[in-house]
Amino acid sequence: MSQTATILVVEDEEAQLEVLRYNLAKERFNVIAADDGEEALLVAREEMPDAIVLDWMLPSLSGIEVCRRLKASDETSAIPVLMLTARGEESDRIRGLETGADDYIVKPYSVGELIARIRTRLRVTRPSTTGETLTFEDIAVDTEQHRVTRAGKPLKLGPTEFRLLTVFMERPKRVWSRDSLLDRVWGRDSEVDLRTVDVHVGRLRKILNAGNATDLIRTVRGAGYSLDADA
Ligand code: CA
Repeated sequence: MSQTATILVVEDEEAQLEVLRYNLAKERFNVIAADDGEEALLVAREEMPDAIVLDWMLPSLSGIEVCRRLKASDETSAIPVLMLTARGEESDRIRGLETGADDYIVKPYSVGELIARIRTRLRVTRPSTTGETLTFEDIAVDTEQHRVTRAGKPLKLGPTEFRLLTVFMERPKRVWSRDSLLDRVWGRDSEVDLRTVDVHVGRLRKILNAGNATDLIRTVRGAGYSLDADA
């Protein structure tokens, strides 16, 4: 059960954006786009993409500044950022990495190379969803056998609650908007409404908290939910 990764592409040049959008979609990524820096910051917080492809040259807020702000915020600092730039000087390269960019790609680049680098970043930040046990506090999720335990005791989860928990477990403490949970658990094209997300989070919470266990799902007012020991 591999999820589709969502990539935010930040590029002000329409033609470049379309090339990226087309090629990433062809590789079965969900693509969302922003054409300036301010919008990129808003979209990143709202959608919590799995990676951001960020053009260096943007109007008003530069790619470097966008990257710096993304990395300075607890909410978005874990999202890998791949910077795109036409400049190749070493000093620029270092500046790019100093802002916290996770990778740096010089234009012109091949689409194949960009996609390979994105995949590498996704592997680094996201545990693979096959044959892996995800743990957080006293919860353990075996993603291969679809088994969940809390404090060593097996829990029975429905398929939706299982997917929801897996999303939370892959990024503990990250705050997920209901929209982004909907995209990840039900798929971007589903017709499910946001209330359904609340219902399933409620069910998951009930299962996890059976036997008066500590509530690890935090409801963040106006923002969404996160898996957090400080719930
Ligand atoms: Ca540009």
